[in-house]
Amino acid sequence: MYLSGSPPAIFAHRTRPSLRAALIDASSPSRLNEPLRKIDTRDFQRATRTTSRDINRRIMLNLVRDHQPLSRADLARRMKIGRGVVTSIIQELIDEGTIYEGATGHTARGRRPTMLHVRTQDRLVVAVDVRFSRTFIMLSDFAGSQLALESFETIFDPDRLVAELIARIGLLSRTHGIAGRCEGVGLVVPGMVERITGRVLMAPQLGWRDVDIRDRLSAGVGLPVHIENAPMACALAQMWLGQRGNSIDNFVYVTVSDGVGAGIVLNGQLIRGDSNSAGEFGHNPMDPDGPQCMCGSHGCWEAYTSNQATISRYLGRELTPLWGGAVQHASTLTIDDLIALARGGDTRAASAIVATGHYLGVGIADIINGINPSHVFVGGEITSAWDLIQSAVRDGIAQRALTPAGKATPVTPEQLGGYPRLRGATALVAAPHFAAPRVA
Ligand SMILES: [Zn+2]
Repeated sequence: MYLSGSPPAIFAHRTRPSLRAALIDASSPSRLNEPLRKIDTRDFQRATRTTSRDINRRIMLNLVRDHQPLSRADLARRMKIGRGVVTSIIQELIDEGTIYEGATGHTARGRRPTMLHVRTQDRLVVAVDVRFSRTFIMLSDFAGSQLALESFETIFDPDRLVAELIARIGLLSRTHGIAGRCEGVGLVVPGMVERITGRVLMAPQLGWRDVDIRDRLSAGVGLPVHIENAPMACALAQMWLGQRGNSIDNFVYVTVSDGVGAGIVLNGQLIRGDSNSAGEFGHNPMDPDGPQCMCGSHGCWEAYTSNQATISRYLGRELTPLWGGAVQHASTLTIDDLIALARGGDTRAASAIVATGHYLGVGIADIINGINPSHVFVGGEITSAWDLIQSAVRDGIAQRALTPAGKATPVTPEQLGGYPRLRGATALVAAPHFAAPRVA
């Protein structure tokens, strides 16, 4: 406990002077600001002779990605290491096709340096977003640039869904000639995923419990398949495909679509929790006597803020699991239509959307109070109405955030443009190439 303040007086009195000095040093403000991570003595990766080289490799790769085009001399200067080390590691990265040499750069004098770039254009990913309403498939490159996009009405039966995905990915592969250039399939689902087995433990909207689609899809398409809960994947995408040189280390990414959830990043690390289910804020109760959510409970945040909840509100209904399905299949009205109606002067549509903004703000305040992020990102169709809902979101936050700093937390709608969940799926395949190696 003393790490959060001064050492308790009684403890300080009984310790030897040298130890006291160490304790005082450990509690000094500069030390307290360092992230503390306990080394797990039951499960660790020890440093080997090649560890520092591996770390330098990843640092170089990330520096080139953030500041490209970059020369070898720039890299050596930024990393404060010798040119020889840079040259040999960069040669490895070029040989394996991760980095390529582009045009020569300019210097004030002397030989023109060859500039380095990260190879993203012809390294492809098939991204799949399975939602309650539709399933989307996007072919993109490692930078998240879209090359093809299609969608179909989601098939809830896992066997039939896997068969449909295998057929469609096969066709996409033949049409775009991606064989040999595709490095994997990233698959995001609206539910909790077991980390090691990739099984979907629970997806209330799809009615899935303990379902395997990863391994069957991988066998069917002959590519590695990476599966993840959608909000966590969106948080990963924000980290890896967001603005270059993005230095926001503590943020929460809230996804609002057919469901509502959050991906948490603290100290530059995605928070997964003990069984990979962290961030399920969508089922926090706003009102225990509120409308019945798709999960079976009442008054969840999701039951006030999901796209179905907003459409239901416009249609004069409360969301229920039965009605949620009816909204989806019996009504052709989408959230995009509703936003268009609001912009066209339909005051009921506008107030349904603004109410969602208010509830969104109240729930975000809860996250701000609990996690204390420096930034909150919001992704989903509702963000295209941000100008209409922004003040309602901020009012909701102001009502419930506990501190002035909390109330002032910046909340930014998705900056990447279009399909954040598909970018999340892309990041599942691309991001591990840039992540720091795990040591200890
Ligand atoms: Zn719920």
